[in-house]
Amino acid sequence: MSVVFTGGWIVTCDDAGTEHPDGWLLVEGETITGVGAGPAPEAGERVDLGGAVVTPGLVNTHHHLYQTLTRARAQQADLFTWLRELYPAWAGIDAEAEYAAARTGLAELALSGCSTVFDHHYVFPRGRTGLVEAEVQAARELGVRIVASRGSMDLGASHGGLPPDTLVEDVDAVLADTERLADALHEPGPGARVQIAVAPCSPFSVTGRLMEESAALARRLGLPLHTHLAETVEEDAYCRELYGCTPVEYLDRLGWLAGDVWCAHCVHLTATEIARFGETGTGVAHCPTSNLRLGAGVAPVRELLDHGVRVGLGVDGSASNERSDLFAEVKQSLLVARGRGGPAALTAREAIRLATRGGAAVLGRRDIGSIEAGRQADIAIWRTDGLELAGAADPVAGLVLSGPHRVDRLLVGGVDVVRGGALVRADETDIARAHRVQARRFST
Ligand code: ZN
Repeated sequence: MSVVFTGGWIVTCDDAGTEHPDGWLLVEGETITGVGAGPAPEAGERVDLGGAVVTPGLVNTHHHLYQTLTRARAQQADLFTWLRELYPAWAGIDAEAEYAAARTGLAELALSGCSTVFDHHYVFPRGRTGLVEAEVQAARELGVRIVASRGSMDLGASHGGLPPDTLVEDVDAVLADTERLADALHEPGPGARVQIAVAPCSPFSVTGRLMEESAALARRLGLPLHTHLAETVEEDAYCRELYGCTPVEYLDRLGWLAGDVWCAHCVHLTATEIARFGETGTGVAHCPTSNLRLGAGVAPVRELLDHGVRVGLGVDGSASNERSDLFAEVKQSLLVARGRGGPAALTAREAIRLATRGGAAVLGRRDIGSIEAGRQADIAIWRTDGLELAGAADPVAGLVLSGPHRVDRLLVGGVDVVRGGALVRADETDIARAHRVQARRFST
């Protein structure tokens, strides 16, 4: 089945940043087979876009879906205080709650134009099984791609870590379970809808041994590696005291700065460390709303981009950014970059690129993130005839500056996930109702 979309402003996010203001786009099966301007080719179905802006489906590079269950808590807390307040609540997570949370977060993301979601799950209370499987099931049902991580914590409070001892695991159990999930779920090739990443949580909740063994396992299995890094000044002080160096220097010592790694936040980096990210090919998940919500600071995205660093956007967990709206992060990334570096620090088009091509690069994916022949047909269609874009001289910049928006239509691998601004395969009211039942179990 082939479909040609005509009469839209196509933002391809290809290498040259090509846009077709009155363009067409041809989709055959799960693949984009052509894009351009001028007369559109024939196809089985013809769709008039009516001047909509078309972007690649957005790619979320950092999240904790389970945190939808514990929103709006520890409202004035810094990261460490916030974590200490929330760990006991998170200890109640099980597969049923994880499934409801994942459906909620993934639905929100899809409605914001997001077609690929990385989720960093690192809370595995002893005896609870099926947590990652529950997320994967939710993603398959809604139709979005997921990169789910088998995260981990093994440095409990009694050994100088932040989490309670009851929430940390044994190193060998973590590694065995990671390998089990990779064998069962990871799809290596182009068009993968489910992938597994290896993601020990952070320098203050994971031992050096688990960091090193996680990296060795990921490299043996060909899986991407992820962790939190340099999020707050408290983390910086913690690492200096415990390890005698900055968080980035610590990761570098462990062999973690490399092209198969991306790190969330990276707010507090020295100029040398920014250059080191560029030299080593280490990627960054920029999560501006979460960083503002926790008062952590603003990541030096302009400087990272100028050093050739792969940078994507993340909504981060739903307890430190109460929205899972990735388009809101597109606008937020522009605003915070300008707040830090002035009005030329980031353009609207660069902000879109972070959320699409940048995110795909961060996840090591060449099959998504741009609208080019041969790529997966992950496509977000944004209407331009609403109140908020009336009078916009440039619909692409207008879209970013007036965001966030509910996507009108989202295709993932050529299949509709959102149509007419509504989920195709689920009802969002039902998802919210089921989530309320689960979230009640976490209210204390
Ligand atoms: Zn996070």
